[in-house]
Amino acid sequence: MLRLLRPKTDLRTLITLLAVASIVITLANSLYATWRVQRDLLINNTLESNRVYATKLAATTEIFFQLAQSQLAYSAKMLSDGFDNDSVLQGEVDRLREQTASFNSVVIVDVQGRVRSISPESLMLEGMRLTSATSHQALKERKPLISQPAISAANNLMVFVSSPVWAKDGNYLGFIGGTLYLKKKSILNALLGEQFYRDGSSLYVVDKQNQVLYHQNAQLIGKKIAPLISNEDKQLHSSGYQQISREGREPMLAGYAVVPASDWMVVALKPTQATLNPLTSLLFQVLKHSVPFALLTLIAAWILARLIALPLWQLARKASQMDKQGVSKEISNIRSWYFEAGQIKRALLAGIGLLQDKIGRLKFEVQTDPLTQLLNRRGLSAVLEYFLTTRQPFAILALDIDHFKRVNDTFGHDVGDAVIIRVARELEQSSRQSDVVCRNGGEEFLMILPGADQDMALMIAERVRQRIHKLEIEQLGILSVSIGVSLWRPDHQSMEEVFKAADDALYQAKKAGRNCVMRAAEQ
Ligand code: GH3
Ligand code: MG
Ligand code: MG
Repeated sequence: MLRLLRPKTDLRTLITLLAVASIVITLANSLYATWRVQRDLLINNTLESNRVYATKLAATTEIFFQLAQSQLAYSAKMLSDGFDNDSVLQGEVDRLREQTASFNSVVIVDVQGRVRSISPESLMLEGMRLTSATSHQALKERKPLISQPAISAANNLMVFVSSPVWAKDGNYLGFIGGTLYLKKKSILNALLGEQFYRDGSSLYVVDKQNQVLYHQNAQLIGKKIAPLISNEDKQLHSSGYQQISREGREPMLAGYAVVPASDWMVVALKPTQATLNPLTSLLFQVLKHSVPFALLTLIAAWILARLIALPLWQLARKASQMDKQGVSKEISNIRSWYFEAGQIKRALLAGIGLLQDKIGRLKFEVQTDPLTQLLNRRGLSAVLEYFLTTRQPFAILALDIDHFKRVNDTFGHDVGDAVIIRVARELEQSSRQSDVVCRNGGEEFLMILPGADQDMALMIAERVRQRIHKLEIEQLGILSVSIGVSLWRPDHQSMEEVFKAADDALYQAKKAGRNCVMRAAEQ
């Protein structure tokens, strides 16, 4: 069986809940949107700034190599005379190393690969033959070169930049070259910078074979590492960025650029996590700024919820008291400020009208005698209750039609009814506005005369008796009534006793021969 569930909540709570839910959802949504947008923005900005940083360093390195090469080319041109003069050669290598500070060491090698001159002289290589691949290449190719990074004869990781020396007559004399140390302090090192990265960012310079040429951790220099940037991208662009996520490694945001002169690659890296760290505090800030506004909205919503719910709540309460006296006025006073509440209010008022009509009609039906439209005993009780509470004294006239049985017997029940109705009208016409006439049952009536004393009551009773006696009813002839009179005054006798006394007086009137008025004894 379906059980009717009593609603546990009310409209105000529901509206407030709705407002809270929408505010929470909106807030969560805006936090999520902020998080998404800011996250993408931070990642893209970092990728781009790493790319710009790598490009800048690559461009600087490129310029440095060009500068180093042009310095060597100038010296080579100067040496086209005097290549056989040792002091000229020594002067030139010393000048080049000390004046330009571009190279860690400078060397002049003749066409046989013998060291003609070297600076600093402490390297003690003068007169020795250079057998390295780098010097072989320089002698063979006879053009400006930048070598692959290699370990030098003096056990340094270095790059060798060289320029061929030609005699005025066009004979090849050898080459002049400068070394750049990668592990030791050099101008290249200083160019790449020795930044200290607290957030885990780092800078790599690697050659074509992924040998590390520069990194803030000197231990890594000279070591081969796994490719940082996937090849696909490298071939496409001379600079760009990538998100790197390798298994077991922290995800990184990388920007890279290639140095064309040496085919090196500069890679700037920043851990993704370090990039996103400010996001938490940003979200917290957003939350901090949103909460007061959300609270304000909530208060406004709560007030609005009250305003919206109030008329409906009041109407609902009154709906359960529709039979109460004066409820229409209370409902009329409810401020139904919007359409639905207005309609419900109107419907309630219409409903109350109908209900009260019905109640009134029922009351009327319950308290009225259908034959004569006079009050019945039940109706009289209500009146008497009122007199009791207001302590209103009154007189009672108890009337009974004489020999009524005969009327019924002779002319039939219908004529009997008509006679009862006729007498009822006579009694009504004989009474004042404030008097109450009641059919006591059968052909007996009661008249209640509020405020009447005994003389007045006897006088009215006599007048009624005469009036009825004078009635001329077709076929029937003369009609008469007998009347007993008694008085009720507060604090004297009970109402029952007074009614009994009126009844007794009526009985006395019957006994006295009918068609007369008798007053109750001892009154
Ligand atoms: P008495 O003078 O002693 O009053 O004589 P009575 O004939 O009037 O005697 P009683 O009061 O005992 O009789 C009442 C009669 O009224 C009895 C009943 O048949 C009749 N009666 C009661 N109610 C009605 C009614 O509603 N319609 C009609 N037609 N007759 C009624
Ligand atoms: Mg009777
Ligand atoms: Mg009678």
